[in-house]
Amino acid sequence: MTYIGHKPDRFSELLMTTTVLVMIMENELKKLPSIDEVLRTASLAGQGAVISRQQVLECTRQAVAEYRQRIIDGELFSKQLVLQKIVTRTNQLLSCIDGCHQQQVINATGVLLHTNLGRAPLAELAVQRMAESASYVNVEMNLTTGQRNYRGEHARKLLCQLTGADDAAVVNNCAAATILVLQALAAGREVIVSRGQLVEIGGGYRLPEVFSASGALLKEVGTTNRTYVHDYERAMTEKTAAVMRVHRSNFSQAGFVAEPGLDELVALGRRRNIRVIDDLGSGCIHDLSRFGLSEPTVLGSVAAGADMVLFSGDKLFGGPQAGIIVGRHEWVSALHQSPMMRAFRVDKLTLAALGATAEIHLSGNALQDLPLLRMLTRDANDVRSLCEAVHQQLTVPEGISVSVETCISEVGGGSMPGAQVRSFGLRIKGMDAELLTKRLRCCIPAVLGRIQADAVFLDLRTVGDLQRKDLVKNLSIAIVQSNDEVGD
Ligand SMILES: *Cc1c(COP(=O)(O)O)cnc(C)c1O
Repeated sequence: MTYIGHKPDRFSELLMTTTVLVMIMENELKKLPSIDEVLRTASLAGQGAVISRQQVLECTRQAVAEYRQRIIDGELFSKQLVLQKIVTRTNQLLSCIDGCHQQQVINATGVLLHTNLGRAPLAELAVQRMAESASYVNVEMNLTTGQRNYRGEHARKLLCQLTGADDAAVVNNCAAATILVLQALAAGREVIVSRGQLVEIGGGYRLPEVFSASGALLKEVGTTNRTYVHDYERAMTEKTAAVMRVHRSNFSQAGFVAEPGLDELVALGRRRNIRVIDDLGSGCIHDLSRFGLSEPTVLGSVAAGADMVLFSGDKLFGGPQAGIIVGRHEWVSALHQSPMMRAFRVDKLTLAALGATAEIHLSGNALQDLPLLRMLTRDANDVRSLCEAVHQQLTVPEGISVSVETCISEVGGGSMPGAQVRSFGLRIKGMDAELLTKRLRCCIPAVLGRIQADAVFLDLRTVGDLQRKDLVKNLSIAIVQSNDEVGD
């Protein structure tokens, strides 16, 4: 072979190939967005308000640097895709910096009332009313008369209408309601409680300690498993202010057990002129027995004649965090004299959401319009269809298996212990379950599931149709990322 000019030696051959490669690489690297470009994308815009600009900048730089490296390592992306991936990664890094920054999450834990996840999600109407109330509102004014009225008069009326009680009061939560009632009506006097009902609700709420804090004296009667009406009667003295029944909301007793019904306690109370307080907690309004769920209802307690019934706003009532007291006007109105009432009072946003929730209960459409009740009574086959749709849309790397399986959802939040709510979920096997749950938590919105026998399980009973797209997207991303990380 003859050469015109230089005969290319191995060195220059190599140089040429390298030059071409460098040119290709430079071309590829040009697809990387500038920091400013990433910062300008809409999905990052909102983040700046809660996390410092410096942190946003650092996360953006890190994400761009990571993708620069991936391109140098030979991965190919289109300009649009790389921007999208960098934005996603920046968001993920940001949410990992401050895992406490309050944000919407996808609850696939299988627990409907998850206290760590804010218990009941609010109805659309409640959200709308809260937004309206963010402005100036007549929270303590009657617009017809121009006079001051009780804070939350509207909610009070609705609660009376709904429960059949003469009067109602709203405070911060059911714990506050209990302390307020005990302090206002029984400070320095005795309240009789069965030994089988001295509960701990969680988060430091233990009934004997609640009594100490209120100044009322706890008078225990009966035994852990059996208490009779005559136990209450024998304990009554001139120091007795009330009898209190506490709903065992987070555990159940079986076997050799006995305790009087509320009606028996009410009859005793009437006979001896002693008030009966019913701490229901869960706040179930509708009879849910046709769904296999048995829980005492607020209406049942009021009808049985309890002088005061206490329950949470954010458990089965399906509304905002609140403590609701309904009962006889004589006793409920007395609560307004307590300085604790002022300390425990709720804000206008809570009242707005509570009013809307009560209206929905009154409308007859609660099982449809209150997200909590809709999800609780959702047909298992409907959950299965959602699981199958998500499953079909997922793209998973080789070696990882995703299957649709049946499971049991829990009511949670100290309601209906042991209730069996049949549901369906996705089981993801073949990868590090700890790592995958962590990656899922760092998505936006975060996806929360549980680990079961080395697999990640996502119960979709509490996932709405509106969250489906995000779930598919984030689950796909997290699976791929976790898989890559293990491979690295
Ligand atoms: C949940 C519960 C409480 C506490 O209610 P919060 O609204 O969380 O303060 C009190 N008593 C009973 C019986 C409960 O179930």
